[in-house]
Amino acid sequence: MDDKLRNIIALEESDFFRTYKRLRILVERGEGCYLITNNGDKLLDMFGGLAVNVLGYNHPEINAAIEAQIKKYIHVSNYFYQEKQIELASKLIGATGMKKVFFSNSGTESVEAAIKLTRKYFKGTEKKNLISFTNAFHGRTLGALSLTAKAKYKEDFGPLLTNTKTLPFNSVEELRKNIDENTAAIFVECIQGEGGVNVVTEEFIKELITLRNKFEFLIVADEIQSGVGRTGKFCAYENFGLIPDMVVMAKGIGGGLPLGALIGDERVEDVFGYGEHGSTFGGNPVACACGAAVINVLQAGLYANIMTQSSYLQTELRKLKKDLSGKIKDVRGIGLMLGIELAFDGAPVVQKMIDNKVFVNCTNRNVIRLLPPLILSAGDSELFINEFRKVLSA
Ligand code: PLP
Repeated sequence: MDDKLRNIIALEESDFFRTYKRLRILVERGEGCYLITNNGDKLLDMFGGLAVNVLGYNHPEINAAIEAQIKKYIHVSNYFYQEKQIELASKLIGATGMKKVFFSNSGTESVEAAIKLTRKYFKGTEKKNLISFTNAFHGRTLGALSLTAKAKYKEDFGPLLTNTKTLPFNSVEELRKNIDENTAAIFVECIQGEGGVNVVTEEFIKELITLRNKFEFLIVADEIQSGVGRTGKFCAYENFGLIPDMVVMAKGIGGGLPLGALIGDERVEDVFGYGEHGSTFGGNPVACACGAAVINVLQAGLYANIMTQSSYLQTELRKLKKDLSGKIKDVRGIGLMLGIELAFDGAPVVQKMIDNKVFVNCTNRNVIRLLPPLILSAGDSELFINEFRKVLSA
């Protein structure tokens, strides 16, 4: 380890709350799908800044969008109309077929906005119960945290919201047993990210829709990790025939800048009144300009690349599963949101991959999670497969 990194580690340890367990890597810059460290190492980033850097690093369209906007203004208050907000909102409405947008700064804030909207929508009724599922991750502010399933994230931070319930993911039977006239909203990730890249079943979604018809609760699709083209469709729910009442987005939607959105269908379009919800920074114009650039690039032909790379990766990973009998338990996911469930702890695999200049993530202890930039090339995919094969074969 060099002196610069050693010094930075010491400063971080003395100055920061201990919330992030960092890798001992100092990134100097990024280029395409690669991170370049301060000692000149070039790492293939198969994690894409946790699904944020959908166009990778130093993308010309993102840079151009930022440059053009910062010359105009980098912030004005939400008392003013802002062209970039309007441009991005109409692209989001176009891509989702929904009716209304509220911009926040992050995923957890988008979930909070959806909770508040639900509360007001059902105000004065018995519909108070918010449902989420085992292994769900919806964020870390107190409302969103109440819907996040894992005890380790929330056990020390109560009291949280009451009227919340976690049901087993993909259990149709438990849905039928637990959902009733008091259910206000269901929060669902069609592909759970932090929870281990778990894909919802069509049967489960079908039952959710049937129950919504009966009990008239709201369905909130959490597309914070799975949205913005990642599954080869703008939102993951499109793969399952679901039309949610609300969609929450963040991460890739700002192309690398902080931005979140709550998007709602006609059922909820008139719920918020002036002044009832807001955010000083929500819908920052530079972030919105980047978001518009991301959607332009996606719609100009990136979807085809996502599916080509996904199909190559899945084919090769399944071959690997067969060749290394017993080491890989499952390969799952859609598009460029893929999970490789190992038969053992994934942390040493992550470290060995980093040693081999490929950055992957492990979630839920033994699931190697791939969330690469959507611009991943055939050469990048091949490089990942070669290194992964080497590491797992060792
Ligand atoms: N929902 C999902 C599915 C997520 O993956 C995340 C973050 O990883 C969040 C919500 C929270 O988003 P943020 O970290 O932007 O608050």
